[in-house]
Amino acid sequence: MGWTERQRQMLAEMGLRVWTPEAEAAAPVAAEAPAPEARAPQAAVPSVPVVVAPPAALGGVAQMDWPALRAAVAACEACRLCEGRRNTVFGVGNEQAHLMVVGEAPGEQEDRKGEPFVGPAGHLLDSMLRALNLTREEAEPARQVFIANTLKCRPPGNRNPEPDEMVKCEPFLKRQLALVKPRAILAMGRFAVQALLRSSEPIGRLRGRVHTYEGVPLVVTYHPAYLLRNLPDKAKAWEDLCLVAGVLERG
Ligand code: URA
Repeated sequence: MGWTERQRQMLAEMGLRVWTPEAEAAAPVAAEAPAPEARAPQAAVPSVPVVVAPPAALGGVAQMDWPALRAAVAACEACRLCEGRRNTVFGVGNEQAHLMVVGEAPGEQEDRKGEPFVGPAGHLLDSMLRALNLTREEAEPARQVFIANTLKCRPPGNRNPEPDEMVKCEPFLKRQLALVKPRAILAMGRFAVQALLRSSEPIGRLRGRVHTYEGVPLVVTYHPAYLLRNLPDKAKAWEDLCLVAGVLERG
């Protein structure tokens, strides 16, 4: 069945688009949006249009407000991680937080609960934040942080994120940062650093100074899961927290 122009317009207004192999081939590649290949048929049948719901690929994640962004993350099927997830893990905290904390990816408990950092690493993160009089719980933006991950879905068996998963999920994190407009960012672990600083330098070389992400001061520190296994580096993480606290104070 073909669609008239009018029908296409109506579908577009409802947030649906008509997928055809021809349109797909002609469409420019959106640099910001996760690719929709997970939903595209493997064997293309040119004469049969398929209507697909809009995950991140439609409309542009870069223009989304909070509700649209939440819905896009919840519906995302841009990579294989959607197949095994129980929940997407959007992020938690104050949408105007002064500090945004960025981790790696949900683990098993986060996948069950739909909230970042609720396992042992999360307990350590909460204590670290508490030491700075910060919290994920309801509070004013100066005290309540926003916590998000580089990936919104759990990699199976808690394996490392794959590069293509990082690429497809990145627009969501970028949009969260653009909406929160934090005064400072704490990037925890190498995957957050890769996503935000485009650096694969070891954390030990990047920590201890203030970087910037799109003009926002960014401090690098060890991932709390690493700190649970490497207690001596906790002292260094404390220094990093003091560094970010200083940035916030200077504000
Ligand atoms: N580790 C992360 O990086 N994020 C989580 O949400 C949990 C563990």
